[in-house]
Amino acid sequence: MTTVRTRFAPSPTGYLHIGGLRSALYAYLFAKKNGGDFILRIEDTDRERFVEGATELIYRTLKDVGMYWDEGPDVGGEYGPYIQSERKDMYLPYAEQLVREGKAYYCFCSKEELEQRREEATARGETFKYDKHCLHLSQEEIQEKLNAGVPYVIRQNIPESGEASFDDIIYGHIAVDCKDLDDTILIKADGMPTYNFANVIDDHTMGITHVMRGNEYLASTPKYNLLYEALGWEKPVYIHMTQIMRDAQHKLSKRDGDASYEDFTSKGYLKEAIVNYVALLGWNPGDDRERFTLDELIDAFSIKGMSKSPAIFDPNKLTWLNAEYIRDLSPQEFTSHALPYYEKAGIAHMDKDILSSILQPRVEIFSQIPEMVDFLANLDEEYSIELFTNKKSKTNPEVSRSVLEMVIPILEALPSWDTTLIHDTLISLAQEKEMKNGTLLWPIRIAMAGKQVTPGGAVEIAALLGREETLRRLKLGLSKL
Ligand code: GLU
Repeated sequence: MTTVRTRFAPSPTGYLHIGGLRSALYAYLFAKKNGGDFILRIEDTDRERFVEGATELIYRTLKDVGMYWDEGPDVGGEYGPYIQSERKDMYLPYAEQLVREGKAYYCFCSKEELEQRREEATARGETFKYDKHCLHLSQEEIQEKLNAGVPYVIRQNIPESGEASFDDIIYGHIAVDCKDLDDTILIKADGMPTYNFANVIDDHTMGITHVMRGNEYLASTPKYNLLYEALGWEKPVYIHMTQIMRDAQHKLSKRDGDASYEDFTSKGYLKEAIVNYVALLGWNPGDDRERFTLDELIDAFSIKGMSKSPAIFDPNKLTWLNAEYIRDLSPQEFTSHALPYYEKAGIAHMDKDILSSILQPRVEIFSQIPEMVDFLANLDEEYSIELFTNKKSKTNPEVSRSVLEMVIPILEALPSWDTTLIHDTLISLAQEKEMKNGTLLWPIRIAMAGKQVTPGGAVEIAALLGREETLRRLKLGLSKL
């Protein structure tokens, strides 16, 4: 049996879209599940779309999530080079072979001529399709133009009638009328192949057995199959994936501003949660499991579980999953992920063990941290005294005033500012005064935070703020009452 070989073939256009990440993931999972090889190929023949640094971004992302490739530009392999621009000279001989066999032809039509014919077709209410003008040039005319150095492209000679088709694992039999197909450019005037040609040559010469990619290529694949047939090559198995949608009508797109891997990591999503969620976009394990590590995904993955209908990207589900992953971090891991956000919130000098212990159960996305703890670095001193009123804690401004009056000197006199000591002192004070803990703690927390909802209680907040700042805030609270 031949070894399964899949590939991820991104174009370095500056961005790894969630859809691209999913294509890479499924190709990786399918290869690994079947003991096969996962190949990375960089498709950079469209120089106009090329973005500096984009290739490195692709490497970084795949490595970050643990999808290591068996062959690729940096690791090499038997079928290299793995960057299309470095394979430039490999394509022309195949195109010339097709020209000799009448399956492709030189086209010398200039941009202006084509534009004019396009306009004429539009005026007649037709969609422009290349009219095979150059197919009818004589051998001498062709030679003359080549000798004169007239720029040319090479076009695929698509039959004028009949059907081109292929079978896709997800979509089934796809057939198109040849008369609806354009004579695609295979080699551009700059000598570079188009994607339409290069993907066929590369997939074949790299021994790719299963082509897994987005369904935007579904309509062109019959044309690619004609090329396989023309070249006498065995076709790969095609697995086209459904779209990822923002909602029932709209594709998830770059314009949504949050559709790339980096968009999510920079918002404070964990890579494990992103990969896990992306895996579930268009695939399900056949049971109700939702949590998977990459290795568990390899184990569970099968083409059968891939969906035939579009996947809807649900940010709430991703957030939920992310929160689950956050809960499972060790306190140290949590702190190291949270640290940049502590810095942003101006609280990185505070006790990180306490910070993390109050935040880990509540945070769903790390970027929520600064807003959740804004009061620690900056008290909104204009808070309303209404906040001191709380039914459940049996507090109102009056009660709060007497609590603060009583507590301030006691806290001032503490020999050290230690969490346990603060806790025990306040709790025994409540007991001594026969008060509910809440009645004592509520006014303290309000005076320290200036808001009713805070992560952590009065003791933790006092420990975080330190003696001086705690007392300053308590006195400020008292002065309002
Ligand atoms: N370079 C193409 C893209 O980025 C890859 C398509 C394919 O996998 O064949 O969309």
